[in-house]
Amino acid sequence: MNKKIIDQIKKELLVRKKQITKDLQSFTKQDIHEKDVRHAKFPDYGDAYDESVQEVDDYTTGLATEEVLEETLRDINNTLDRIANDTYGICKYCKQPIDEKRLLARPVANTCIACKLKMQKMV
Ligand SMILES: [Zn+2]
Repeated sequence: MNKKIIDQIKKELLVRKKQITKDLQSFTKQDIHEKDVRHAKFPDYGDAYDESVQEVDDYTTGLATEEVLEETLRDINNTLDRIANDTYGICKYCKQPIDEKRLLARPVANTCIACKLKMQKMV
């Protein structure tokens, strides 16, 4: 695959990684035991009923957002690993190169379109 395109994708992934990490830090706190694990904070708005309702509401939203962001972060880290190991752009199932257009649209893709469609049919 074109080295220039990979460099460009890597740059974009690093920017996204930084942004997502920052987003996560804004509403999560570090686990007391494991420094790589973060948890959504439980907000503290006050003791009134509507304040408590809002706390639970925002906490639930925070948990869902945390899950999505952490999954995206995992995808990005795996992709950066593949770039570092020179296996980027290779389908993990059929070991064929993934179409460049697909990678540009979805840089974290690790399967080719043919395999992806096959997997979807099996589900
Ligand atoms: Zn494939």
